[in-house]
Amino acid sequence: MRKIEKKMEGKVTFKIIEKEERRAACGAVPPATIRPRTVVCYLCGREYGTTSISIHEPQCLKKWHIENDKLPKQLRRPEPRKPEVRSTTGKGAYDIDALNEAAWRSSQEQLVPCNICGRTFLPDRLIVHQRSCKPK
Ligand SMILES: [Zn+2]
Ligand SMILES: [Zn+2]
Repeated sequence: MRKIEKKMEGKVTFKIIEKEERRAACGAVPPATIRPRTVVCYLCGREYGTTSISIHEPQCLKKWHIENDKLPKQLRRPEPRKPEVRSTTGKGAYDIDALNEAAWRSSQEQLVPCNICGRTFLPDRLIVHQRSCKPK
């Protein structure tokens, strides 16, 4: 008896998935996807699509920690905090431009100045840079 029930269940879910897929295929495109917007990663300052940023961010943070741990003590930084921008459009939508600007600023704070020439670099880049940077 239980076996049959299970089989039935499987069939039912399969049918539902099929329906969903068909709806997506002929589908109404949500207005947000018409104009693709990019979001700035607050860690690395690179731009990502609104869906890929949520995948990228945790990976980027992990990478940030790995790199930070490898740095000499004086170059290590406290973990950056994700900038939070409250909705300013009044329509409950994120003000992506403001959010991106805050994220960009946060990513720039990650840069460390070269103690020889004063230019700023990501810490791992700085180590590479300082191999060839000579005081004037
Ligand atoms: Zn990133
Ligand atoms: Zn330098």
